[in-house]
Amino acid sequence: MGERLVVVGSGMASGRMLEHLFEIAPDAYDVTLFGAEPRGNYNRILLSPLLAGQQTFAEIVTHDAGWYAAHHVACRFGETVTKIDRAAKTVHSRHGETPYDKLVIATGSAPFMIPVAGRELRGVLSFRDLDDVEAMIAVAEKSRANVVVIGGGLLGLEAAAALHARGASVVVLHLMDHLMELQLDPAAGRLLQKEMEGRGIRIHCRAQTTAILGHRRVEAVLLDDGTIYPADLVVMAAGIRPETRIATDARLQVERGILVNDRMQTSDAGILAVGECAQHDGACYGFVEPLYAMAAVAAKTLAGEDAVFRPVRTATHLKVSGINVFSAGDFLGGAGTEAIVLSDPGVATYKKLVIREDRLVGAVLFGDTQDGPWYLDLIRSGTPIARFRDDLMFGRALVERVAA
Ligand SMILES: Cc1cc2nc3c(=O)[nH]c(=O)nc-3n(C[C@H](O)[C@H](O)[C@H](O)COP(=O)(O)OP(=O)(O)OC[C@H]3O[C@@H](n4cnc5c(N)ncnc54)[C@H](O)[C@@H]3O)c2cc1C
Repeated sequence: MGERLVVVGSGMASGRMLEHLFEIAPDAYDVTLFGAEPRGNYNRILLSPLLAGQQTFAEIVTHDAGWYAAHHVACRFGETVTKIDRAAKTVHSRHGETPYDKLVIATGSAPFMIPVAGRELRGVLSFRDLDDVEAMIAVAEKSRANVVVIGGGLLGLEAAAALHARGASVVVLHLMDHLMELQLDPAAGRLLQKEMEGRGIRIHCRAQTTAILGHRRVEAVLLDDGTIYPADLVVMAAGIRPETRIATDARLQVERGILVNDRMQTSDAGILAVGECAQHDGACYGFVEPLYAMAAVAAKTLAGEDAVFRPVRTATHLKVSGINVFSAGDFLGGAGTEAIVLSDPGVATYKKLVIREDRLVGAVLFGDTQDGPWYLDLIRSGTPIARFRDDLMFGRALVERVAA
């Protein structure tokens, strides 16, 4: 019998952490895995292609019943942990108390629902889990359903494209001047808008939602300028907030996320946090790559090995088929930087590379994104670029040919 490890949240970070743990210390713990969703771990990223009808749920499951059985994981799916009792070392759920020796909090994030009247109406959904996707599909399959997506970021645009592909009439409302402003500069944001509009998706930037209208079910969305968009479905994709409630209630240190040290330990060394709910060195993450790095560190910490989490620079890809967008690093530039820009609106291609002191620090690519991973490597490694700066814009193949 190993020590008792309780994991709260069966999402992407905890799934990866358990894989590492069973590899390096297969017999160290008896694991109990709680999940608020009535299902085990799946690849949440692939909810977008699932919504678009390009994949099935079975294809995006990452850990099936056989895997849990093989590793003797006691699965408590559909069971939300409501409280951590640190003194008694137990967690509470609707089936009572479960004792732990070590606890991992991996509760992810909750979608931010903008605080407007009508947000509680039926048909107002977030885009976070399988239930959301199934509910969206049920509405979108009705003929000519009107969909309003609030939020023109990554998630909102993926939802919009997928629902449009299912035959819905879609409007995206975005508060800012251009789409995906967290990842794209204005030029690339506008190209993206044109591309989405070319497919028949309406985009309304600088849109301030005032209320969601309807009786029990949503019927329309009202903007502050008086515009009304009819809606059978409203998808809120206006950001996420780390899900920290049980940690706050247990008086662990929490700011935006649950504070963790380099080893993923919270302010109580016997309790770890991983994934979007965790805050390390002032930062919370919303992409899986750094979360997977956290998962590896947490597994080592649980196994009694040394490991240190270091922030990971990530790149952004929009998962809309036929639209290639890449962004990484400091894509806006500013004082002390130079930007090389290549733009060909005729073929909807745009490239911007941001350079500071002989190093690539940021990149935005629209259209041809083939060299994205190479630019990301250059950003991460801080490789001096003077030798091939003139050819940098034309990509890796040319630079390597010239060097050969
Ligand atoms: C549609 C979509 C597309 C995305 N695309 C990308 C992408 O292309 N690239 C990328 O890097 N990232 C993408 N992401 C983000 C990525 O999915 C998340 O960063 C990742 O899933 C976070 O992992 P996590 O384990 O921290 O949280 P989650 O995967 O959300 O898992 C947390 C789990 O904990 C459960 N839970 C919460 N509270 C409790 C509780 N009290 N008791 C029990 N269970 C609880 C939740 O129900 C959830 O199942 C996407 C996300 C979505 C929704």
